Amino acid sequence: MKTAGESSANTVLISEIFFSLQGEGPWAGLPAVFVRLGGCVEPLCPWCDTAYAWSGGERTGVARILETVRSHSCRRVVITGGEPFLQWNSGLKDLHCALVSRAYQIQYETSGKVIIPPMPDALVVCSPKHIGGAWRFEEANLGAVDVFKFVAGGIDWFERIDAFIARHGIDPGKVCIMPLGATRDEQLRNMGPVFTYCRQRGYRMSPRLQILAFDTRRGI
Ligand code: SF4
Repeated sequence: MKTAGESSANTVLISEIFFSLQGEGPWAGLPAVFVRLGGCVEPLCPWCDTAYAWSGGERTGVARILETVRSHSCRRVVITGGEPFLQWNSGLKDLHCALVSRAYQIQYETSGKVIIPPMPDALVVCSPKHIGGAWRFEEANLGAVDVFKFVAGGIDWFERIDAFIARHGIDPGKVCIMPLGATRDEQLRNMGPVFTYCRQRGYRMSPRLQILAFDTRRGI
């Protein structure tokens, strides 16, 4: 089925599409189809765990992406990257409209390093990146973000996050903090301080379920 504005010429650079549970953030624990888009924007994060999405990937027609999404009986789609909004005007908008017209729930995961378009039909989760001593975040995106998601691992992290939130006047109800940790042990160590920090500030705390469940295993 085609919707207005959709044609076989509409393509998106896709790194991977897979079905899993969302491990973190406001949908933590919920099943979803993950559509990972290729390409990111500098400065790149030295700790990135999806560096394979920076380059490569396959230009894929919107109709074929929809077919793959539909093959999983799940009405939730997480569009992630890389940096998905790099492709908003070169195919992603068409994919978004096609998913909305089919009543999918959509969550975007973005760093906020590029402009986020107005997005009334989706949940926008932004993880601002602190790289080389500064936050890399487009201020114009403030009103477009539903949830600001940060990782934190101690007092330095808390101070940086506090400064970001104070500078932008962000409502604590929009803030979600996850314990830093690429391993289960590291995440468990950081959970107590993050719990206390969230309780003091009135923030939501989110685990990273994929790491708690599987430690360093990939491809979950
Ligand atoms: S913004 Fe995300 S995908 Fe891009 S380099 Fe940073 S962590 Fe990796």
